[in-house]
Amino acid sequence: MPNKIPLGHIDECQICSDKNLETILTFGHQPIVQNYLSAEQRHEPETTYPLNFCLCPICGLAQLDYIIDPQLVFPPHYPYRTGLTDMLIRNFRALADNLEQRYQLKSADLVVDIGCNDGTLLEGFKAKGLRVLGIEPTNAAAVANKKNIPTIQAYFNEDVARQAVSQYGKAKIIVMTNSFAHINNLFAIMRGIKLMLDEDGVFISESQYLLDMMATLELDTIYHEHLRFYSVRPLRELFARSGFSLVNAERIAAAGGSIRAYAMKGQRAESPRIEELIAAEKQAGLYDIAAMRQFAAQMIKAKNDLQMLLLSCKNSGARLAGIGSPGRSNTLLNFAKIDPYLLDYICEKSRSPKIGMFTPGMHIPVVDEKKLFLEQPEYALILSWHIGEEMMQLMRKLGYKGKFIMPLPKARVVDNI
Ligand SMILES: [Zn+2]
Repeated sequence: MPNKIPLGHIDECQICSDKNLETILTFGHQPIVQNYLSAEQRHEPETTYPLNFCLCPICGLAQLDYIIDPQLVFPPHYPYRTGLTDMLIRNFRALADNLEQRYQLKSADLVVDIGCNDGTLLEGFKAKGLRVLGIEPTNAAAVANKKNIPTIQAYFNEDVARQAVSQYGKAKIIVMTNSFAHINNLFAIMRGIKLMLDEDGVFISESQYLLDMMATLELDTIYHEHLRFYSVRPLRELFARSGFSLVNAERIAAAGGSIRAYAMKGQRAESPRIEELIAAEKQAGLYDIAAMRQFAAQMIKAKNDLQMLLLSCKNSGARLAGIGSPGRSNTLLNFAKIDPYLLDYICEKSRSPKIGMFTPGMHIPVVDEKKLFLEQPEYALILSWHIGEEMMQLMRKLGYKGKFIMPLPKARVVDNI
């Protein structure tokens, strides 16, 4: 069992250590999606890393075969803030309600969020009178602490787990939303969680779900932060190898389709839903090399169609702007070679720290969304397309009059919204 997954190229499965990883789709070398450049940084070289989407033919885990030092991928100044994303706030409130009711939590119970970002999820638990603790490596920890959400600023590991237990006691609930697919030292993480979790406690992870990702061709969720793309069968394998049981799993709408997994220590009965989900995954071909290559072919076609649509708009003399600059959109921009000659600029909400910067790889300027309403370009490319309907309605309400382009799963122009 691997104790530590090395950095750089890896030649074995992150869960079962099989050495026959198959490359399903390669994106070539890509920059880190959150490495926005300042005007000055554009005069310096830009670092890129291999980005290959692979499948383990034994346990069925979809994964990357290159791991970047987490200090580079999640630096202290990492710009992402949960509290800026309305959809996530709604999901988190629902999760807090759900867990409180399901486990009948009491005021002395401790809830820990690993990778808590600015503490948005824990605010929901705190409002219910529970004790809370966040663990977060980036400066978002300071934002959480300012909101009186006690937060340890650190990359999670067994030492941090011990420190947390000595200060706060064991946790009834440990949550990892989205960061569970991000952390490279998987089995050490599981040991840390085991240390912190009460005997009858529950570890809940939320990760993007491979089944949804393939169904909607979410190729833009493939970037270096996401080391693994979970489906239920490999998740069950992971928990079994770590001394846990996967007791339940459910599909949720968050982040374009996610899987919420519930694990407890030791041997436990599992919900029949787990076998149902595994059957659906098998049916879709998620563990099958040939079926996954067909998904990859569809992703390449989707990319080509998007390029054609943008080129035809541009060649007709239209102006194009992007709406929203989530990190994930840079995979799409770089893979589809959407450069500043195609997309004039990308808009972000006024509070965004990305304004004034340039996207990694393609170097498209990020501007305040006011520019969109002032200049009214003919087309607006929705880069947060997984919440596209919501974005288009909002932009229309705020006064954008042009046409929208939805890039995936099939590039299309949307006029009436
Ligand atoms: Zn494997």
